[in-house]
Amino acid sequence: MTIETVLGDITKQTDVEAIVNAANNSLLGGGGVDGAIHRAAGRELLAECRTLNGCETGEAKITSAYKLPCKYVIHTVGPIYRGGNSGEPQLLANAYKNSMKLALQNKIRTIAFPSISTGVYSYPLEEAAEIAVTTVNDFYMEHQNEFDCIRFVLFDSRTKQAYDNVIDRIILSS
Ligand code: ADP
Repeated sequence: MTIETVLGDITKQTDVEAIVNAANNSLLGGGGVDGAIHRAAGRELLAECRTLNGCETGEAKITSAYKLPCKYVIHTVGPIYRGGNSGEPQLLANAYKNSMKLALQNKIRTIAFPSISTGVYSYPLEEAAEIAVTTVNDFYMEHQNEFDCIRFVLFDSRTKQAYDNVIDRIILSS
């Protein structure tokens, strides 16, 4: 088992059971990774999302994945970065933790995450990568036998580099 990073498009991951969507509070679609996931999954995803009554920041909800190659989409909402003193670190950690909890509850052993909040929501990349990797790794350490693969799918090389740097420092050196 590893926590791994790949450069790529999360909608094209063919060997994971669930992908995580960096959604917004409405869960009714948006830009960035959210838009890409809804486009690839098809209109049925939006129809199921309409039944969920939105999602609080830091919380997560699960749906089917429809036309995507995976089985489930876990929708979570990261914080909009407003300077860092509005609870953003805890909310970002909660988004990862609650996504992992939902995976566990649904016996999902392979999961792919995007870089939550570092696009339109403007979370500074290095700080977000640190929170993402440490939160996911801490959760994994408590549930080692319940996961086979945790993957960060990163859309550009700068983002991948930031995550790799944290993994090298925190996980590989521990
Ligand atoms: P947020 O609103 O949480 O900031 P965004 O979708 O704007 O979410 O951006 C989050 C990250 O997802 C960014 O690094 C962005 O480049 C990346 N991203 C956009 N499209 C995809 C995709 N298809 N697969 C993986 N990552 C993506």
